[in-house]
Amino acid sequence: MLFGGLEAGGTKMICVVGNENGEILERATFPTLSPKETMPGMIDFFKGKDIKALGIACFGPIDLNKESKTYGYITSTPKELWINFDIVGEFKRSLGIPIGFDTDVNGSLLGEITWGCAKGKTDALYITIGTGIGGGVMSNGKLLHGMLHPELGHIKMAVSKEDSYKGKCPYHGTCFEGLASGPAIEERWGKKAVDLAEDDRVWELESYYIAQALSAYIVVLSPQIIILGGGVMHQKQLFPLIRKKTLEQLGGYINTKELEDIDNYIVPASLNDDQGIMGAVKLAMDAAKENQ
Ligand code: ADP
Ligand code: ZN
Repeated sequence: MLFGGLEAGGTKMICVVGNENGEILERATFPTLSPKETMPGMIDFFKGKDIKALGIACFGPIDLNKESKTYGYITSTPKELWINFDIVGEFKRSLGIPIGFDTDVNGSLLGEITWGCAKGKTDALYITIGTGIGGGVMSNGKLLHGMLHPELGHIKMAVSKEDSYKGKCPYHGTCFEGLASGPAIEERWGKKAVDLAEDDRVWELESYYIAQALSAYIVVLSPQIIILGGGVMHQKQLFPLIRKKTLEQLGGYINTKELEDIDNYIVPASLNDDQGIMGAVKLAMDAAKENQ
Protein backbone atom coordinates (compact mmCIF):
# COMPACT_ATOMS: atom_id res chain seq x y z
CA MET A 1 0.00 0.00 0.00
CA LEU A 2 1.28 3.50 -0.83
CA PHE A 3 1.16 6.65 1.27
CA GLY A 4 2.09 10.26 0.56
CA GLY A 5 4.33 12.28 2.86
CA LEU A 6 5.02 16.00 2.87
CA GLU A 7 7.62 17.68 5.02
CA ALA A 8 6.58 21.31 4.76
CA GLY A 9 9.46 23.62 5.63
CA GLY A 10 10.07 27.35 5.48
CA THR A 11 12.54 27.03 2.60
CA LYS A 12 11.48 23.82 0.88
CA MET A 13 8.68 21.31 0.59
CA ILE A 14 9.71 17.67 0.32
CA CYS A 15 7.05 15.38 -1.15
CA VAL A 16 7.42 11.60 -1.11
CA VAL A 17 5.60 8.41 -1.85
CA GLY A 18 6.39 5.68 0.67
CA ASN A 19 5.10 2.41 2.00
CA GLU A 20 4.35 0.91 5.41
CA ASN A 21 7.92 -0.35 5.73
CA GLY A 22 9.21 3.20 5.74
CA GLU A 23 10.67 2.84 2.25
CA ILE A 24 10.70 6.04 0.23
CA LEU A 25 9.94 5.12 -3.36
CA GLU A 26 9.75 8.52 -5.00
CA ARG A 27 10.49 12.08 -3.99
CA ALA A 28 10.31 15.66 -5.28
CA THR A 29 11.32 18.97 -3.72
CA PHE A 30 9.63 22.32 -4.28
CA PRO A 31 10.87 25.71 -3.03
CA THR A 32 8.51 27.29 -0.49
CA LEU A 33 7.27 30.35 -2.38
CA SER A 34 3.62 31.40 -1.94
CA PRO A 35 0.77 28.86 -1.58
CA LYS A 36 -0.43 29.88 -5.07
CA GLU A 37 2.94 29.09 -6.60
CA THR A 38 3.88 26.05 -4.53
CA MET A 39 0.65 24.08 -4.00
CA PRO A 40 -0.16 23.09 -7.63
CA GLY A 41 3.17 21.30 -8.21
CA MET A 42 2.78 19.33 -5.00
CA ILE A 43 -0.82 18.39 -5.79
CA ASP A 44 0.26 17.23 -9.25
CA PHE A 45 3.02 15.13 -7.70
CA PHE A 46 0.58 13.28 -5.42
CA LYS A 47 -2.26 12.96 -7.97
CA GLY A 48 -2.48 9.66 -9.80
CA LYS A 49 -0.03 7.94 -7.43
CA ASP A 50 -2.66 5.70 -5.84
CA ILE A 51 -1.75 6.86 -2.33
CA LYS A 52 -4.24 5.88 0.39
CA ALA A 53 -3.62 8.96 2.53
CA LEU A 54 -1.28 11.93 2.87
CA GLY A 55 0.67 12.93 5.99
CA ILE A 56 1.90 16.49 6.45
CA ALA A 57 4.65 17.38 8.92
CA CYS A 58 4.46 21.13 8.85
CA PHE A 59 6.33 24.25 9.99
CA GLY A 60 4.24 26.31 12.33
CA PRO A 61 2.60 27.48 14.35
CA ILE A 62 -0.29 25.34 13.08
CA ASP A 63 -3.77 24.54 14.33
CA LEU A 64 -3.97 20.90 15.44
CA ASN A 65 -7.21 21.14 17.38
CA LYS A 66 -9.72 19.03 15.46
CA GLU A 67 -12.62 20.91 17.11
CA SER A 68 -11.36 24.25 15.84
CA LYS A 69 -12.75 26.02 12.74
CA THR A 70 -9.20 26.55 11.58
CA TYR A 71 -7.97 22.97 12.13
CA GLY A 72 -5.33 22.18 9.52
CA TYR A 73 -4.31 25.81 9.02
CA ILE A 74 -0.87 27.27 9.23
CA THR A 75 -1.58 30.15 11.62
CA SER A 76 0.73 32.99 12.69
CA THR A 77 3.93 31.98 10.90
CA PRO A 78 6.74 34.44 10.15
CA LYS A 79 6.40 33.15 6.53
CA GLU A 80 3.87 35.87 5.76
CA LEU A 81 2.47 34.41 2.54
CA TRP A 82 1.40 31.29 4.45
CA ILE A 83 -0.38 33.00 7.35
CA ASN A 84 -3.86 31.49 7.84
CA PHE A 85 -3.41 29.10 4.94
CA ASP A 86 -5.67 26.02 5.05
CA ILE A 87 -3.04 23.51 3.95
CA VAL A 88 -4.96 20.41 5.05
CA GLY A 89 -8.21 21.64 3.42
CA GLU A 90 -6.49 22.43 0.14
CA PHE A 91 -4.95 18.95 -0.15
CA LYS A 92 -8.16 17.30 1.01
CA ARG A 93 -10.21 19.09 -1.64
CA SER A 94 -7.77 18.26 -4.44
CA LEU A 95 -6.86 14.69 -3.50
CA GLY A 96 -9.99 13.46 -1.70
CA ILE A 97 -8.04 11.20 0.68
CA PRO A 98 -7.52 11.23 4.47
CA ILE A 99 -4.87 13.71 5.61
CA GLY A 100 -2.71 13.35 8.73
CA PHE A 101 -1.30 16.58 10.11
CA ASP A 102 1.24 17.45 12.79
CA THR A 103 4.23 19.69 13.46
CA ASP A 104 7.48 19.12 11.56
CA VAL A 105 9.22 18.16 14.80
CA ASN A 106 6.51 15.74 15.89
CA GLY A 107 6.85 14.28 12.38
CA SER A 108 10.59 13.78 12.84
CA LEU A 109 10.02 12.23 16.24
CA LEU A 110 7.40 9.87 14.82
CA GLY A 111 9.83 8.84 12.07
CA GLU A 112 12.49 8.01 14.66
CA ILE A 113 10.00 6.19 16.90
CA THR A 114 8.62 4.12 14.05
CA TRP A 115 11.79 3.33 12.08
CA GLY A 116 14.77 4.89 13.82
CA CYS A 117 16.71 5.15 17.05
CA ALA A 118 13.67 5.62 19.31
CA LYS A 119 11.85 2.46 18.23
CA GLY A 120 9.63 1.13 20.98
CA LYS A 121 9.92 4.19 23.24
CA THR A 122 6.76 5.69 24.72
CA ASP A 123 8.34 8.92 25.97
CA ALA A 124 10.77 10.71 23.72
CA LEU A 125 11.91 14.12 22.51
CA TYR A 126 13.14 15.27 19.14
CA ILE A 127 14.82 18.67 19.14
CA THR A 128 15.90 20.45 15.98
CA ILE A 129 18.58 23.12 16.16
CA GLY A 130 18.64 24.84 12.82
CA THR A 131 17.24 28.13 11.53
CA GLY A 132 14.96 27.93 14.55
CA ILE A 133 14.77 25.61 17.53
CA GLY A 134 11.75 23.41 18.07
CA GLY A 135 10.88 20.13 19.63
CA GLY A 136 8.47 17.26 19.25
CA VAL A 137 7.29 15.39 22.31
CA MET A 138 5.87 11.91 22.73
CA SER A 139 4.41 11.30 26.16
CA ASN A 140 2.83 8.02 27.23
CA GLY A 141 2.87 6.81 23.63
CA LYS A 142 1.12 9.87 22.20
CA LEU A 143 2.45 12.88 20.36
CA LEU A 144 1.86 15.85 22.63
CA HIS A 145 -0.31 18.68 21.30
CA GLY A 146 -1.99 20.27 24.29
CA MET A 147 -3.46 23.74 23.91
CA LEU A 148 -1.45 24.47 20.74
CA HIS A 149 1.70 22.32 20.52
CA PRO A 150 4.86 22.52 22.57
CA GLU A 151 7.27 25.34 21.67
CA LEU A 152 10.41 23.95 23.26
CA GLY A 153 12.68 26.52 21.59
CA HIS A 154 11.23 29.45 23.49
CA ILE A 155 12.05 28.61 27.09
CA LYS A 156 13.76 31.21 29.26
CA MET A 157 17.49 30.71 29.71
CA ALA A 158 20.22 31.74 32.12
CA VAL A 159 22.63 33.65 29.88
CA SER A 160 26.31 32.80 30.38
CA LYS A 161 28.31 35.53 32.13
CA GLU A 162 30.75 35.40 29.23
CA ASP A 163 28.05 36.00 26.63
CA SER A 164 27.05 39.58 25.86
CA TYR A 165 24.95 38.68 22.80
CA LYS A 166 21.48 40.27 22.90
CA GLY A 167 19.71 37.27 21.40
CA LYS A 168 17.93 36.69 18.11
CA CYS A 169 14.32 35.94 19.10
CA PRO A 170 12.01 38.84 18.18
CA TYR A 171 9.71 37.90 21.08
CA HIS A 172 12.09 36.98 23.91
CA GLY A 173 15.61 38.01 22.88
CA THR A 174 17.63 35.45 24.82
CA CYS A 175 15.31 32.43 24.88
CA PHE A 176 16.85 29.08 23.79
CA GLU A 177 16.22 29.78 20.10
CA GLY A 178 17.41 33.37 20.54
CA LEU A 179 20.75 32.18 21.96
CA ALA A 180 21.48 28.90 20.21
CA SER A 181 19.87 28.71 16.73
CA GLY A 182 22.06 28.75 13.62
CA PRO A 183 21.32 32.45 12.93
CA ALA A 184 22.11 33.31 16.59
CA ILE A 185 25.51 31.61 16.29
CA GLU A 186 26.16 33.46 13.05
CA GLU A 187 25.20 36.87 14.44
CA ARG A 188 27.11 36.43 17.71
CA TRP A 189 30.36 35.26 16.15
CA GLY A 190 30.12 37.05 12.78
CA LYS A 191 30.48 33.90 10.67
CA LYS A 192 28.27 31.04 9.53
CA ALA A 193 28.10 28.19 12.06
CA VAL A 194 29.62 25.76 9.59
CA ASP A 195 32.68 28.04 9.21
CA LEU A 196 33.21 28.12 12.99
CA ALA A 197 33.79 24.36 13.27
CA GLU A 198 37.36 24.83 14.57
CA ASP A 199 36.54 27.47 17.17
CA ASP A 200 36.15 25.67 20.51
CA ARG A 201 34.65 28.70 22.28
CA VAL A 202 31.61 28.51 19.96
CA TRP A 203 30.81 24.90 20.82
CA GLU A 204 31.54 25.29 24.53
CA LEU A 205 28.92 28.04 24.71
CA GLU A 206 26.51 26.31 22.33
CA SER A 207 26.64 23.06 24.33
CA TYR A 208 26.17 25.00 27.57
CA TYR A 209 22.87 26.38 26.27
CA ILE A 210 21.70 23.11 24.74
CA ALA A 211 22.51 21.23 27.97
CA GLN A 212 20.63 23.82 29.98
CA ALA A 213 17.52 23.30 27.85
CA LEU A 214 17.83 19.50 27.88
CA SER A 215 18.17 19.36 31.65
CA ALA A 216 14.95 21.41 31.92
CA TYR A 217 13.15 19.08 29.50
CA ILE A 218 14.41 16.04 31.40
CA VAL A 219 12.96 17.17 34.71
CA VAL A 220 9.69 18.33 33.16
CA LEU A 221 8.97 15.59 30.61
CA SER A 222 11.04 12.61 31.79
CA PRO A 223 11.86 11.35 28.28
CA GLN A 224 13.45 7.91 27.76
CA ILE A 225 15.56 9.28 24.89
CA ILE A 226 16.44 12.69 23.44
CA ILE A 227 17.21 12.97 19.73
CA LEU A 228 18.99 16.04 18.40
CA GLY A 229 18.70 16.99 14.73
CA GLY A 230 18.88 20.08 12.50
CA GLY A 231 21.76 21.78 10.69
CA VAL A 232 23.72 22.90 13.76
CA MET A 233 23.80 19.33 15.12
CA HIS A 234 25.90 18.31 12.13
CA GLN A 235 28.73 19.59 14.36
CA LYS A 236 29.28 16.19 15.92
CA GLN A 237 31.77 17.53 18.48
CA LEU A 238 28.72 18.98 20.26
CA PHE A 239 27.45 15.60 21.44
CA PRO A 240 30.08 14.72 24.06
CA LEU A 241 30.02 18.32 25.33
CA ILE A 242 26.22 18.32 25.61
CA ARG A 243 26.15 14.95 27.39
CA LYS A 244 28.72 16.02 29.96
CA LYS A 245 27.14 19.40 30.62
CA THR A 246 23.61 17.97 30.85
CA LEU A 247 24.72 15.59 33.62
CA GLU A 248 26.50 18.49 35.36
CA GLN A 249 23.43 20.67 35.18
CA LEU A 250 21.19 17.93 36.57
CA GLY A 251 23.57 17.93 39.55
CA GLY A 252 23.23 14.21 40.26
CA TYR A 253 19.57 14.63 41.23
CA ILE A 254 18.20 12.17 38.68
CA ASN A 255 19.61 8.63 38.67
CA THR A 256 18.25 6.33 35.99
CA LYS A 257 19.70 3.60 33.83
CA GLU A 258 19.10 5.86 30.83
CA LEU A 259 21.28 8.66 32.25
CA GLU A 260 23.97 6.15 33.21
CA ASP A 261 24.15 5.27 29.53
CA ILE A 262 24.14 8.88 28.36
CA ASP A 263 25.77 8.07 24.98
CA ASN A 264 22.58 6.22 24.06
CA TYR A 265 20.32 8.76 25.76
CA ILE A 266 21.26 12.00 24.00
CA VAL A 267 21.68 10.88 20.40
CA PRO A 268 21.83 12.23 16.85
CA ALA A 269 18.93 11.68 14.46
CA SER A 270 19.36 8.29 12.82
CA LEU A 271 17.51 8.44 9.52
CA ASN A 272 19.85 10.53 7.34
CA ASP A 273 17.70 13.64 7.53
CA ASP A 274 14.72 11.59 6.25
CA GLN A 275 13.14 11.41 9.73
CA GLY A 276 10.66 14.18 8.85
CA ILE A 277 9.35 12.70 5.63
CA MET A 278 9.32 9.19 7.09
CA GLY A 279 7.28 10.55 9.99
CA ALA A 280 4.96 12.19 7.47
CA VAL A 281 4.42 8.80 5.83
CA LYS A 282 3.56 7.37 9.26
CA LEU A 283 1.10 10.25 9.80
CA ALA A 284 -0.53 9.18 6.52
CA MET A 285 -0.66 5.53 7.63
CA ASP A 286 -2.34 6.56 10.89
CA ALA A 287 -4.81 8.82 9.04
CA ALA A 288 -5.73 5.97 6.69
CA LYS A 289 -6.36 3.67 9.66
CA GLU A 290 -8.48 6.28 11.42
CA ASN A 291 -10.65 6.66 8.33
CA GLN A 292 -11.21 2.98 7.65
P1 ADP B 1 15.97 24.57 8.70
O1 ADP B 1 16.06 24.79 10.17
O2 ADP B 1 15.81 25.84 7.92
O3 ADP B 1 15.01 23.50 8.30
P2 ADP B 1 18.59 23.39 8.94
O4 ADP B 1 18.17 22.43 9.99
O5 ADP B 1 19.57 22.90 7.91
O6 ADP B 1 17.38 24.01 8.17
O7 ADP B 1 19.25 24.61 9.70
C1 ADP B 1 19.88 25.67 9.06
C2 ADP B 1 20.81 26.35 10.05
O8 ADP B 1 21.79 25.41 10.48
C3 ADP B 1 21.55 27.53 9.49
O9 ADP B 1 21.58 28.57 10.44
C4 ADP B 1 22.94 27.00 9.22
O10 ADP B 1 23.92 28.00 9.45
C5 ADP B 1 23.10 25.90 10.24
N1 ADP B 1 23.87 24.79 9.69
C6 ADP B 1 23.62 24.07 8.58
N2 ADP B 1 24.57 23.13 8.37
C7 ADP B 1 25.46 23.28 9.38
C8 ADP B 1 26.69 22.62 9.74
N3 ADP B 1 27.18 21.61 9.01
N4 ADP B 1 27.29 23.02 10.86
C9 ADP B 1 26.82 24.04 11.61
N5 ADP B 1 25.69 24.69 11.32
C10 ADP B 1 25.01 24.33 10.22
ZN1 ZN C 1 11.73 33.08 21.80
